[in-house]
This record gives sequence, structure tokens and C-alpha cells, in this order.
Amino acid sequence: MAHSGKRRGKYSMSKLRQFLQDAETKAFDQGHRATIKFNIGKYNAAVQRGLTQYSDHELARERASYIKTQTINNLDKYLMEFEANFTARGGKVIWARDAQEALKEIGEIMKRKRARSVVKSKSMTTEEIHLNEYLEKNGIETVETDLGEYIVQLAEQRPYHIVTPAMHMSKEDIRDLFVRKLGIPPTDNAEELVGVARTLLREKYTSAEVGITGGNFLIADVGGVAVTENEGNGRLSTAFPKTHIAIVGIEKMIPSIMDLDLFWPLLSTSGTGQGITVYNTIFTGPRQSKEKDGPEEMYVVLLDNGRTDLLALPEKREALNCIRCGACLNVCPVYKNIGGHTYETTYSGPIGSVITPHLSGMAENKHLSFASSLCGACTSVCPVKINIHNLLLLNRKQSVDEGMAESQERTAIKLWMRAMKSRTLMNLAPAGIKNFVLRYVQKDSWSKRREPLQAAPKSFNQLWKEKRGR
Ligand code: SF4
Repeated sequence: MAHSGKRRGKYSMSKLRQFLQDAETKAFDQGHRATIKFNIGKYNAAVQRGLTQYSDHELARERASYIKTQTINNLDKYLMEFEANFTARGGKVIWARDAQEALKEIGEIMKRKRARSVVKSKSMTTEEIHLNEYLEKNGIETVETDLGEYIVQLAEQRPYHIVTPAMHMSKEDIRDLFVRKLGIPPTDNAEELVGVARTLLREKYTSAEVGITGGNFLIADVGGVAVTENEGNGRLSTAFPKTHIAIVGIEKMIPSIMDLDLFWPLLSTSGTGQGITVYNTIFTGPRQSKEKDGPEEMYVVLLDNGRTDLLALPEKREALNCIRCGACLNVCPVYKNIGGHTYETTYSGPIGSVITPHLSGMAENKHLSFASSLCGACTSVCPVKINIHNLLLLNRKQSVDEGMAESQERTAIKLWMRAMKSRTLMNLAPAGIKNFVLRYVQKDSWSKRREPLQAAPKSFNQLWKEKRGR
């Protein structure tokens, strides 16, 4: 396996420092705060309206949690079933243990097809393996066709959010970007801006040799890949090019096409508040002899990239139940303050903090599990009832068990424990000395923007004695 959940390594201080620095900058950036408040606010209001379509939303969550848990516990069986059904209709399955294997196989297909250009619909899995960079390096033009993804690609950024990649940008930001990069005259008309992107993208669909998508669900009993999108770009990206490659994480499995009536509405309602997403397509292979359209060849890349390591941890494997709806990001007070880019990961927010240490290394990413208030808001909205904040705690425990706590932190905890266990030690120093130590300890953290914490002038023992007159 590429990454081991148990892998030890030198704790990456530079990543942590960068994270703290960026988090501080973003948290006090008023412009960023206003944009996020406005955009997430709109989604959160829509979700509340969307939830009214359920007579018993809790029951739907229970069912979804049960199905995903059973599926993940029997993932090997369902993967084999998927492969058998998908290949029976002429599709080809590629098993990729890690990003390198996936890229190599995709590169081979590109060579065979003499591909010069690719159209892509939104896919976080392709972000995970850094597909665009790889293709560009090999001289293949890669165009994101989802509007949000197209915008962040133009801006040379990574997606800010797993569902709404350009959530951090206002209409004015997008106008300025289009003026700068596409040379259009300035306009504040959102429809005109969308029209510009649409016109540019249309010609790309018809000239690309290969269309690439992700997959929201792998459906075992029909050997299908379900793709959910709002713009029709996913369908266009797969209708014109002669080859379709879907890159999907192995955990996206559901047992049956019949389960979609539960998962499709749950995914859309939790993420965007829609009753159901506008375009839902099930791809079951290349064009069949009596069909008029569709690609001549279809590949599904089944990506592991650390997922089986997570599967091997029974107490944490429920993280694989995630259907990437994005709800946990939208309610997270940390995400809303520090923003998606601060995480510097493919998957941001609460679920990103849970899975990234397992997909990309605990040593380099353990700090993400500490960037949480553990308020449990994420857990309360998750449509598949993942106990997200508990998993963050388990990640913290794992990192400490594996010796990744910093020496300063270890020493501080030891001293604190020693003092807490001894009343004599606690009473030894007068309040003045305690405050001196507290001031020093907190100077770069707590008291940077707050009044410093103060020790009480009298200890509990002193107060107790005075009260009892002894
Ligand atoms: S953890 Fe739950 S709430 Fe968060 S993205 Fe996944 S399914 Fe949605």
C-alpha cells in the first residue's frame, strides 16, 4: 500500500506552522469572512428547506448508515461483483493501488488514443491523484467543465470546497478573473459570465479525445458508475469523446441500483438543499451495438490510495462511509473561519481532517485532527451518521500512541499531571509566580488576542480553610 495508517515519520513542523499562519490570516480576513458567510449561509438555508421533503429524515440517515456500513464491511465482495457486471458489458476495470499506478494507467490510455485534449467533469478523486498536473506535463490540454472547477482552474487554485469549489469567490472576483484571463469586457451580469464559460467549453467537448469523470456511487449489481451534477457538463464530457475514463475511490460502493432512491436525495439535500440533483447519470459501460451514442471505450479506475489501510482499522473504517456531500464542511465553525484552502489538502473540513492522515500520512497531517472544537456539528448533519468528531479524537490518540506529540507538549503534559496529582505542589507557588508562568506559556497563543488567563489570588485550599475557620 502507498500509505500506511500506522506509518511513523518525523512530524512535519513546517506544514503545521504554515497551517497556523494561514488559519490566522484567513480568520481575520474580513472580506473572506463576508463571502463565506454569505455563500455558506445560502446553502445552509437551502438545506433546511430541502430537509422538509423528508417525513422521517432520521430514519433515512439510519438506513443509509446501515447500508454503507454493511457495504464497507464486505467491500471485497462488492468490488468483485461490480467488476464482473461492468466488464460483462464491455467496460474495462483498472485497479490502482495508489496515485502513481492510476496516473501510469491513464497515461497509457492517453498514448494509445493519441489524446491531445481531455474534458473533465468535477471529481475530487482526480484532484487527489493530481491528474491535471500529470496530463499537462505530458502535453495534454485538460479542461474542467464544471463551472466552479473551471473558475478555480483559471485562477490556478485548488478547489476550496468538495462540492462547491469556488465558494470563496464573489461575483466580482469571478468578473475580474474572466477579464484578466479571458480578455472579456467587464460585466456584473452573472448570466453573461456563465455564457462566456459555456461558449468556450462547448467547443472543447466536441474536440476532446477523452472524457474524464469521477463517480458518486459504484453500483455493484448493475456494474454502474453513478455521476451526479447540476450543469449537464458530465453528460457532455462523456457523450462526445470516444473514450470515457471514470476514476472512483473504492469506498464509493453501494450494493444495488435500488439503493439510489435513498442515496441520491440524501446526497443532494445534505449538500445543496436540492430535492434531487439536476442530472443523475448511470454509466454501465461503452456504447452497445444497438445504442446511438456514448463512448466506444469506457474504463473505471478503482482507486485505493490508502483506503484499504483505513479499512484495516475497524474503529475508524466508518470514515469510508462518506458520500462527500459537503454538509459537515458547511456547519463546521473551524472551516467557516479558516476556509478550505488553509487545510492544504484535497479533502478539507471535518471529514478531510479525519481521512487525510490515513490517505496522505499521519505524521504530516495529524495537526488537522487537532483543528477542531469537537462541537459535534459535523456529526449531527452527516447523512450517513459518521461519528466524525469521535474519529478526530481517535486520530489524536493514534498520533500520540505513535509518538508524534512534540517534545514540548509531552513535557508540558507531564509537568501538568505531576502538579495536578499533588496538592502540595499545587500550593507551593503563590498566585504571582503562577501568573508569571501562565503569561509566558500563553504569550504566543491564548493571550495574543485575548486577556491572559489568571490564577486566582487564593488557592482552593486557602479558601476552604478560611471558610471552615481553620
Ligand atoms: S462525512 Fe458525512 S457530512 Fe461530511 S461529506 Fe461525508 S457524508 Fe457528508
